[in-house]
Amino acid sequence: MKKLALHWKILIGMALGVLLGILMSSFEGGKEIVQDWVKPFGTIFINSLKLIAVPLILGSLIKGVSDLKDISKLSKMGGKTVLIYILTTLVAVSIGLILVNVVKPGNSITEKTRTELVGNYSGNTQKYKDQAASQKESGPLQALVDLVPNNIIGAAGENKNMLQVIFFAIFFGIGLILIPESKSKPVKDFFDGFNEVILKMIDLIMLAAPYGVFALLAALIVESPSTDLFKALGWYAMTVLFGLLLMIIFYIVLVYIFTGKKPKFFMNGISPAQLLAFSTSSSAATLPVTMERVHEHLGVEEEVSSFVLPIGATINMDGTSLYQAVAAVFIAQAFGMDLSFGVQLGIVATATLASIGSAAVPGAGMVMLVIVLAQAGIPEAGLALIFAIDRPLDMCRTVVNVTGDATVSMLVAKTEGKLGEPHVKNWDDDYKVS
Ligand code: ASP
Repeated sequence: MKKLALHWKILIGMALGVLLGILMSSFEGGKEIVQDWVKPFGTIFINSLKLIAVPLILGSLIKGVSDLKDISKLSKMGGKTVLIYILTTLVAVSIGLILVNVVKPGNSITEKTRTELVGNYSGNTQKYKDQAASQKESGPLQALVDLVPNNIIGAAGENKNMLQVIFFAIFFGIGLILIPESKSKPVKDFFDGFNEVILKMIDLIMLAAPYGVFALLAALIVESPSTDLFKALGWYAMTVLFGLLLMIIFYIVLVYIFTGKKPKFFMNGISPAQLLAFSTSSSAATLPVTMERVHEHLGVEEEVSSFVLPIGATINMDGTSLYQAVAAVFIAQAFGMDLSFGVQLGIVATATLASIGSAAVPGAGMVMLVIVLAQAGIPEAGLALIFAIDRPLDMCRTVVNVTGDATVSMLVAKTEGKLGEPHVKNWDDDYKVS
């Protein structure tokens, strides 16, 4: 019997998880059973993915940078990567702003619904405001200061500090390029082998992916708020989702125009990472799989993928920036405010920066939204309006974030002459233990 491709297995796991969630929510005590007996498997799955993130970045980035052989190549590729990342983010924010101004979803929120939503969720809003306030208090160069860790074990000890680990790995790689070959060879060979082990570990974790996403979605469904709230926010959610869909189409077209790769090839290659992004709401947790898929299935050579993707997972969040633009204007509309063109331009700038600053974890985009709101003079209490529906939108925007990273890595690889044929020809040959 032909083996089912991984993305189908994951999709089946997701569907069964949703079904179980719905079933268990329908009777008393069902929620607790899922929380006690199913959710832990989802948590274990996410933890195992996060476990791989730091060693993966260290191993693959050090290898990737040292393979470049000279420093000017590195700075050229770095500049190109950041530039393309910023350009795609600007496109995303602009799409979001145009859509929200055309659809005007905030105008359909009645005074009554607004008071009800703000009342229901104002406690949560405070938590987000506090988190954002501490980010805002820091000086203008804080982001730069945060880039350089004072202790590598400390930096690697928290998945939050991914950029610091990236900094160390690139720095180490540069050192490796500059020492004599006789000294660097054993170190490079070590990281080569280290990398292979990590990639195999990802294969093993992915065998559990269908079960992991099953548990995650079942828990999500039993813990989600009532559906009435979702209805009130329907137009807003549709606007965000439509924008995200346009972004996916934009990526497919970009890939086709610049690399000649067909949409089916691109989507087939990246789909397991997209499904994981959807189930985990975290680009950081998805990173190991994104790296594997882009390298093995989309044909991007490791030199490029190991450099472009970890950076992208932390700074390139097109889905998040699009969502922040739509959410900010939606809240303003719901409060009856008219935003001038100047204020909306300000949103382009702050949403771009806020998405760069958002951590690659669930809900981070909402924390940073506070800063966008404050800058534009929109009431922060409005966060409570969109709170109920944030998680499903988070799941979808994370898919876009991950797809955006994969797209840019293909474009950079193409310009560097590092886009080849996929390493895995037969989809079913992957993810098996031999
Ligand atoms: N969850 C998103 C990510 O990890 C960030 C966000 O928008 O909240 O990419």
